[in-house]
Amino acid sequence: MLQLQKSGSRTVARRLRAGRVGLEACRNMSSQSGPYDAVVIGGGPGGYVAAIKAAQLGLRTACIEKRGSLGGTCLNVGCIPSKAMLNNSHIYHQTQHDLKKRGIEVDNVKLNLDQMLKAKNESVTGLTKGIEHLFKQNKVDYIKGTGSFITSNKIKVTLLEGGETEIETKNVVIATGSEVAPFPGGAIEIDEEQIVSSTGALELSKVPEKMVVIGGGIIGLEMGSVWSRLGAEVTVVEFLGNIGGAGIDDEVAKTFQKTLAKQGIKFKLNTKVISADKADGKVSVKTEAAKDRKEEILEADVVLVSVGRRPYTKGLGLENIGVEVDNRGRIVIDDQFNTSIPGIKCIGDVTFGPMLAHKAEEEGIAAVEYLKSGHGHVNYNAIPSVVYTHPEVAWVGKTEQDLKKEGVQYKIGKFPFMANSRAKTNMDSEGFVKIIAEKESDKILGVHIIGPNAGEMISEAVLAVEYGASSEDIARTTHAHPTLSEAFKEAAMAVQSKPIHM
Ligand SMILES: Cc1cc2nc3c(=O)[nH]c(=O)nc-3n(C[C@H](O)[C@H](O)[C@H](O)COP(=O)(O)OP(=O)(O)OC[C@H]3O[C@@H](n4cnc5c(N)ncnc54)[C@H](O)[C@@H]3O)c2cc1C
Repeated sequence: MLQLQKSGSRTVARRLRAGRVGLEACRNMSSQSGPYDAVVIGGGPGGYVAAIKAAQLGLRTACIEKRGSLGGTCLNVGCIPSKAMLNNSHIYHQTQHDLKKRGIEVDNVKLNLDQMLKAKNESVTGLTKGIEHLFKQNKVDYIKGTGSFITSNKIKVTLLEGGETEIETKNVVIATGSEVAPFPGGAIEIDEEQIVSSTGALELSKVPEKMVVIGGGIIGLEMGSVWSRLGAEVTVVEFLGNIGGAGIDDEVAKTFQKTLAKQGIKFKLNTKVISADKADGKVSVKTEAAKDRKEEILEADVVLVSVGRRPYTKGLGLENIGVEVDNRGRIVIDDQFNTSIPGIKCIGDVTFGPMLAHKAEEEGIAAVEYLKSGHGHVNYNAIPSVVYTHPEVAWVGKTEQDLKKEGVQYKIGKFPFMANSRAKTNMDSEGFVKIIAEKESDKILGVHIIGPNAGEMISEAVLAVEYGASSEDIARTTHAHPTLSEAFKEAAMAVQSKPIHM
């Protein structure tokens, strides 16, 4: 292990002899000598993509990950397991409530929650192992352990399987991601059994009779939907006046709430949670309405605390090198992902911007491109957001409320899925497409979709925003018939003048 520092290599050799070392970590290291060109700390979607891209650009690269599996929050406890549960709970719910009218009669539908959780875990393992394979294929050294700065180009790694080592590098990309934000003021403690974070909500061994979700953002609504479909009585308590979190269009948020309410989810908006007390196997959640400060107690079997996530830098040793961090714990970067310390870049959830996997991935690629060639690019106006409920909600660009605030003149085109032939045929026609274009230039500024497959449909809107398309460009583009995407074309026609099918 030529790149190990002297003392480190002695330690590793000693521990190897004693059979106690992170054998695999060492085996995975390349046999070349000298410092790495790039070391990425954190193997989430930001970090692993940065590492693969760096290796593809010819940089000798290592990625340090402490979790024991690659893929970060997203693959292990975020995007992937939640989508597995959303998909399978939707099928269960649909089988129970939606098949008869389609001419399919199924008797005795039963939930096997253990199997559903197992299927979720198998998707996670398959995908995380897939990244290990990609690392091997691209010759990225995968070091399993916790990375901590000694200096800006020397990193101590506390190996997962025991022992430690030091590695040297010319450049570092910090991609240490985020963690669940605790309830403000510490008034509610997460035990991951009765009072859970999103991580615990992905692992419940039985369907709770009653579930209270604190926070009506994307994660709360997705997990609330899962357990509601599986039979829980779900109440979402949200401090703000609408659901969906930051960036959602107000009109979409209202329709979204009505749709979820029809599915049985209850909402308490403009309501603050004050406390959650456990007694006799139940949790009593005390709330206070903003309007009249009226207090109420909600009884629950399980409470999900989903009030956001915060940047994660614990144990990274930032204090040893003086990297600047802002008052929200985010690592401060410039527009080329440089931190305040030369040679150290930072991407993903641990720095500014929306906490989304695809945003972290784009930054990972751009950061190493800057590192290699001095050029890189992320268009922050064209980052989509998706809520994977049913119907899905997806958007990109500006909302109406943004544009009002900015004093921009705009026009709107809307088209309901009720008038889309494919949605009608599929008997899945809730929602609409809404396109917002600049009044004079007709340039598309924002697209907001609530409806079936909105998460797939939004890609066309992202391309439109990325390439500066006008609504007329979309209206004049042929869309296959019968597809849901025709609703997008017709919404563009509605910006222009009138859609055909309405
Ligand atoms: C329930 C849930 C659902 C989500 N669904 C979606 C979704 O559908 N779509 C979407 O875009 N986003 C989703 N997200 C958000 C998404 O998971 C994050 O935005 C994304 O994972 C951020 O990527 P990252 O690489 O910046 O950080 P992370 O994925 O958090 O990865 C950081 C990694 O760094 C490791 N690490 C930290 N410190 C060290 C250290 N010192 N040494 C070594 N390793 C270290 C951590 O173990 C971790 O694995 C979801 C999140 C949650 C919780």
